[in-house]
Amino acid sequence: MKLRIDSPRPDFIKEMAEVAGLFFYPLTLAEDEADLRVLHTEEVKDGLRRCDIRLSGCLDGGYQNSETPQKDPLTEKRLHKRQVKLALYHALKLATGKHPAWGSLTGIRPTRLIYEALGEGLSLNRACGRMMEVFDVRPENAGLLATVVETQRQLPQAAPHEVDVYIGIPFCPSRCRYCSFISMQVGRGDLLEPYTQALLREIEGAIALLAEKGLTPRAFYMGGGTPTALTAEQMTRVLTAAQPLMRPARERTVEAGRPDSMSEDKLRAIRDAGVERISVNPQTSFDETLQAIGRAHTKAQAEQAFHLARRIGFDSINMDLIAGLPGEDAAMFESTLDWVSAIRPENLTVHTLCVKRSSDMHRLMDSLPDEEAVAYMVQLGRAAADGLGMNPYYLYRQKHMAGNQANVGYALPGKECLYNVDTMEDTVSVLALGAGGISKRVTPGRVLVIRAPNVKNVAQYIDRVDEMLARKKELWAD
Ligand code: SF4
Repeated sequence: MKLRIDSPRPDFIKEMAEVAGLFFYPLTLAEDEADLRVLHTEEVKDGLRRCDIRLSGCLDGGYQNSETPQKDPLTEKRLHKRQVKLALYHALKLATGKHPAWGSLTGIRPTRLIYEALGEGLSLNRACGRMMEVFDVRPENAGLLATVVETQRQLPQAAPHEVDVYIGIPFCPSRCRYCSFISMQVGRGDLLEPYTQALLREIEGAIALLAEKGLTPRAFYMGGGTPTALTAEQMTRVLTAAQPLMRPARERTVEAGRPDSMSEDKLRAIRDAGVERISVNPQTSFDETLQAIGRAHTKAQAEQAFHLARRIGFDSINMDLIAGLPGEDAAMFESTLDWVSAIRPENLTVHTLCVKRSSDMHRLMDSLPDEEAVAYMVQLGRAAADGLGMNPYYLYRQKHMAGNQANVGYALPGKECLYNVDTMEDTVSVLALGAGGISKRVTPGRVLVIRAPNVKNVAQYIDRVDEMLARKKELWAD
């Protein structure tokens, strides 16, 4: 779909296109000939700003709304943009007859709006009511948000001196077709050792920085990529060096991830280092799908890895699934959920397939299930988690998700991963080590979030690790 938007506010066009993206995918912005044209006009009269959206081309129709302009320039810009986006959303909803699952929301963290409303003194019920009334979020998703926020409010809140610690291992055994991360294939493993050496140097610097600034680790998380791409011996060296970042933390997680990278010696090295949470991510129980999406493991390998981890002593195991994979229908997804339910992990994360431009999924687009099927799969995921006694405890959305759905993390009570919540809600500072890690300093009340990224390129990271440390010191300079 080619879309042309004419607006007196060029600075709003990108986000207007995101609203249109809720109804059409793929979508490209055009400056001349287009399938659909959006004409935005507005005027301020009698203290009200009237916004008018007209559609022409493959759709006909329009929508108008009125708002009172605000005095504070920042609030005014935010609410003005919201008004224009809502006018366009309603015009498209009327013209297409579609009701997107998350209404007009295009942001990745819908829980933020709930916290914003709670901050204004609204009750949780009223905050959810606002999500339906203002943003047209479907009732089942407004209810989901309420449960997520309720669960999060029962978790330990971060003290000002606490920071989360992240270590990234940007290697994978093979590349999943839907992947848009920076991870590289391990290949012969030539870069693993120099990467480990650089990481050890950064870990040492991070420990010194924490001590100097009086900071305490709250949650420790090793992710990727695939952390178990390291050898058992490299894993032991990294986790031994990282003990001062791990021991004081309230939780320790290694997202082992790919079952084809796990072995008894690696899992033992992780467990011996004091890690209690681990992730074994099957994504689906169908071998033909696994092959189609470029994951070089089978259902049987995923199950073996899970039982091995259990035997070694991990009592908090997460499994990731993806709804909307190519060639799968709701019955297949249900069968995967039945399989996972029989295995009984403590955490279940139900993702929805997200087709990003940087991924290699585009040639499988024809075999993707339609939006309704994906919406049903997501419902099945929710029911399965409920059947396992789990609550939803974090949630985020991405652009280009199948059926405009969301990724939802479920956990048994007491088995929630604090790191996941902190990251999604942006409430806790993060010291991030490794290529592509983004350190973040969050000031009290989230007044300011400042970031210091490490370089993404592995070779550059190895060469410039001292510079990465200097960036972190600068971030915590005062
Ligand atoms: S395991 Fe994760 S990081 Fe690695 S290729 Fe697959 S999606 Fe990407």
